Amino acid sequence: MVGLVVVSHSRALARAAVTLAAEMAAGARIEIAAGLDDTTLGTDATAIVDALVAADDGDGVVVLMDLGSAVLSAELALELVDEDLRSRVVLCPAPLVEGLVAAAVTAAGGAGRDEVAREASDGLLGKVAQLGTAPAEDAGGEAMATVTVGNPHGLHARPAARLVTEARRLNAGLEVRNRTTGSAWVPATSLSRVATLGALRGHEIDVRASGPGARAAVDEIVAVAARRFDETPPELDKIGEWGGPVPVDLDLIGGNTTGTGVRRGQGASAGIGIGPAWRRSSTPPEVPDEPSQGTDVEWRRVEDAVAAVRLEIDKIWEGNPEASIFDAHLLLLDDAELLGEVRQRIEGGQAAPQAFRGAAGRIAAEFDTLDDPYLRGRGDDVHAVADQVLRAMLGISGTAASGDGVLVAPDLTPAEAATLDPVRVTGVLLAFGSPTSHGAILARTRGIPMVVGAGPAVLSGPPGAVVVLDGSTGEFAISPPEPVAAAFRDRAAERSARAGRAAARAGEPAVTADGVTVHVAANLGSVADARAAAANGADLAGLVRTEFLFLDRDAAPSVDEQVAVYRQIAEALGGRRITLRTLDVGGDKPLRYAPAPHEQNPFLGVRGIRHSLAHPAVFADQLLAIARVARETPVSIMFPMVSTVGEVVTARRMLDDAIGRAGRSDGLRVGIMIEVPAAALRSAAFTPYVDFVSVGTNDLTQYTLAAERGNAALSADGLDPAVLRLIRLVCEQSGVPVAVCGELAADEAAVPLLTALGVRELSVAPPAVPLVKESVRGTRLEQAGPLAERACGLADANAVRALLKPGNVHSGR
Ligand code: PEP
Ligand code: MG
Repeated sequence: MVGLVVVSHSRALARAAVTLAAEMAAGARIEIAAGLDDTTLGTDATAIVDALVAADDGDGVVVLMDLGSAVLSAELALELVDEDLRSRVVLCPAPLVEGLVAAAVTAAGGAGRDEVAREASDGLLGKVAQLGTAPAEDAGGEAMATVTVGNPHGLHARPAARLVTEARRLNAGLEVRNRTTGSAWVPATSLSRVATLGALRGHEIDVRASGPGARAAVDEIVAVAARRFDETPPELDKIGEWGGPVPVDLDLIGGNTTGTGVRRGQGASAGIGIGPAWRRSSTPPEVPDEPSQGTDVEWRRVEDAVAAVRLEIDKIWEGNPEASIFDAHLLLLDDAELLGEVRQRIEGGQAAPQAFRGAAGRIAAEFDTLDDPYLRGRGDDVHAVADQVLRAMLGISGTAASGDGVLVAPDLTPAEAATLDPVRVTGVLLAFGSPTSHGAILARTRGIPMVVGAGPAVLSGPPGAVVVLDGSTGEFAISPPEPVAAAFRDRAAERSARAGRAAARAGEPAVTADGVTVHVAANLGSVADARAAAANGADLAGLVRTEFLFLDRDAAPSVDEQVAVYRQIAEALGGRRITLRTLDVGGDKPLRYAPAPHEQNPFLGVRGIRHSLAHPAVFADQLLAIARVARETPVSIMFPMVSTVGEVVTARRMLDDAIGRAGRSDGLRVGIMIEVPAAALRSAAFTPYVDFVSVGTNDLTQYTLAAERGNAALSADGLDPAVLRLIRLVCEQSGVPVAVCGELAADEAAVPLLTALGVRELSVAPPAVPLVKESVRGTRLEQAGPLAERACGLADANAVRALLKPGNVHSGR
């Protein structure tokens, strides 16, 4: 029979509750772990361990607790018992008295422990039904509803993060449980707990709250769930399309397309990756066995380390609020469940590193028990964040362990992408992810081939299995038959020969087969990037994301500091022109020294130039720094996310002020980024105020297709004819040279088309420069021109990609 354990602060209360339950269910097996003695209130983990052992006869134990530390002590006790018993224990969040009575009756009837726990959790329903008819909700009643998860991948990190964010906002003590699996109730405000529900598509989730406003809060969650936690529109809800088999190019395997195992995700970073699959290591950094220096000191260590990791993430993120998976990491840093347990452990005498490792390890272990491979993989997120915090706490520099071969993972955060060793990591295969996320941008910058959106099945592949992938076409295979592996090796050899040819000519200009010069520039986010750009033969820096200078600090950089860094970038590039984009931060990523109100839709909020105009002091300093550097070296200045002429007029007026203070410089050119459809449509109106424009296709695609750039479910493609038509319009009407500095510029399939539309500068990640130059050289405009026109009239991006297959647009040199 399933045993029951009552954990309470009061022994008298526990005894009375057991007496009541025994009245209804004689024969139930109930142990008590309550109070420090007959009269002293408190809970004791070792007493709970004894009770668990006594209550278990092999059928398992359901534990009912009163409040606060009773729950924490029970969780601690669970860590102290052996693994075998632990696997049979359910900590049940039911109300103590009603839950115990229901549990005792159910257990005495011979039910299993999950059913006992479920019945206990429903212990209040009778009372709710009886009293719930009165409109007494706002006087403190309980509200409850059941929703069905409609998201293709269940309540994984993104929708879970959405639920948690909403629950925190509502602040109504919301709890959720997975009715389908009979899970325990968990606080809806804790990402780590919500993720452990293992909620898959079609599962029913109970939502409840109590107290004033409970009904409204539950209704809000029901509404969010009905919108699939703002994740997937119904028309894209075709999970079968992800990672499904694709017809394989005949040239890939010499004509035999059967049984190849080749599937297609989305190409996210060009190159061929071949190697054994590896998963991210979950080995935490070594934690020394050190004594506690007292609760205050140890807790401060935790706070400092969490703050440092937050800054690290901010720095890599560079203010582009696009990687929603990253929200989950940030929420974990703020997770009340995680930090509450850390605090409890510190109060129990542990030093900060031990406390953090123990709490994070326990939470991550809960993920390991889940059935769904994607959700199981979220344990990696907990490990990754915890390892980062531990490193910060212990002052260990360096990066997370990097494996050899192809990293297979659910998704890749910018932090993780930044720590991959490009020599050892031959490729990245992601079950989910998006090609325009910052993780993908960093993979490209670091020259690591990557395929995203490969589908969750890849997560079940055996470690060590050979993976082949093509980061240009999105094709991949796991344990491929030899002819397929050989075909990928051939591609790699062909690509490396091409890369060799490209590298040999990297310093030469890129001229099409019919004599049109296209400047191939580099996108930079640091001085190191500038060195890489020079080494790869970039003609200039087409986009310097100056955010990197502004984010990781409490005050804006001074004018002198900015001048010094811009000067270093120019020097690293040997005096080639640098295009400094003014600060491009957004509403959901405010600078600490330029506070911004919370925005409902940050992508549509105070971003880019809007932010700069709203913070004129910070903007004026940056303009002055740029004007000063422009007196020493060729500089272009570029304003991001422009949507109206008025913005440019104001910005130019401020720039004139700065030039007045710094002194004139003949070489300073002024441009805007075309990232908003309004600016593209009215590009002629900007002509009097600019010397050039640069199309930011990452944002232009996002705003044109109303598809958030980091949203893997949408995977908007810059080759969509709607985007191409806007670029064509800009080339026709702006009257100034047109550059493209979004990720599309590095897409070798897109190079001939963009060139044919009239683009004369392509700005790409430094490692991509040589091959993009080679692609320009292989383009014949008289061939590419008609294809570009046809592309603008096609149905969608897939049709455009089919049209642009190699051979259609290149001169074949
Ligand atoms: C773009 O939007 O295409 C762009 C280059 O800017 P960022 O990626 O920095 O937003
Ligand atoms: Mg942009």
